[in-house]
Amino acid sequence: MPELPEVETIRRELAAHVSGRTIRRAQVLDARLVQGRAVDEFEQRLSGARVQTADRRGKYLLLRLDACVLVLHLMMSGRVHLRPAADVQPHTRLVLTLDRDPAVHLVDVRRFGRAWAADAADLRDILGRLGPEPLGGGFDWRTLQASFRNRRVAVKSALLDQRAVAGVGNIYADEALFTARIHPTTPAGQLSQAQLQALADGVTAALTSGIANFGTSFSTFETTQGTAGENQTRLHVFRRTGQPCPRCGAPIRRMVVGQRGTHFCGECQREA
Ligand SMILES: [Zn+2]
Repeated sequence: MPELPEVETIRRELAAHVSGRTIRRAQVLDARLVQGRAVDEFEQRLSGARVQTADRRGKYLLLRLDACVLVLHLMMSGRVHLRPAADVQPHTRLVLTLDRDPAVHLVDVRRFGRAWAADAADLRDILGRLGPEPLGGGFDWRTLQASFRNRRVAVKSALLDQRAVAGVGNIYADEALFTARIHPTTPAGQLSQAQLQALADGVTAALTSGIANFGTSFSTFETTQGTAGENQTRLHVFRRTGQPCPRCGAPIRRMVVGQRGTHFCGECQREA
């Protein structure tokens, strides 16, 4: 699933191509994509609208238009491609034809992706419960302390809760915990200040690396040009089960925490 760095990679590429352009036509090819409005109304709200900019909140992509905001959540397998309007590939769910090519194509094999043509009240409903942006100003150990206070859930699960921190998913949670030397099942509310500081730094470092390397691609993520990201070659623990820990050489282990595959070093990340 695309996480913050993957969505941010798409956002940057989109912003460069679509800011200031006008959507000539919005064409929904899969009604299941559209949330909160009829497909006709969704298409009408977008058609003719000028794109101000591309934004992001957590894992949500936001195209700010003059009168509304097109909100996209890519979920499991959604991809955003910039291609000529006529070049519609299989599994395309939405095409935004602009006043010049390329057009914006939303391609989604598994069809879990979601889209809203949102007004201000819709935006509050969709985004209102998201926690702080980890790369926004002011994110530090106190942010995590406030989110984790009195929580007995495993810190790995707490990090995945979008109400605690927006945009962190399975890949970057494992990487952040490795950097911070924290065992994934440690109860979130029991972390010391030093551990919270290390974890806040680890989250920031993992996400920053992900963005710098154009996202992590294992099976689904692609840039808007259809190319893979490069961050999968930079990961320390995620999907490296059995390979040596880059810090101590012990084999990376895998366990399941909150139903999610979790990768860690049993030597560097000791159980409390
Ligand atoms: Zn290690």
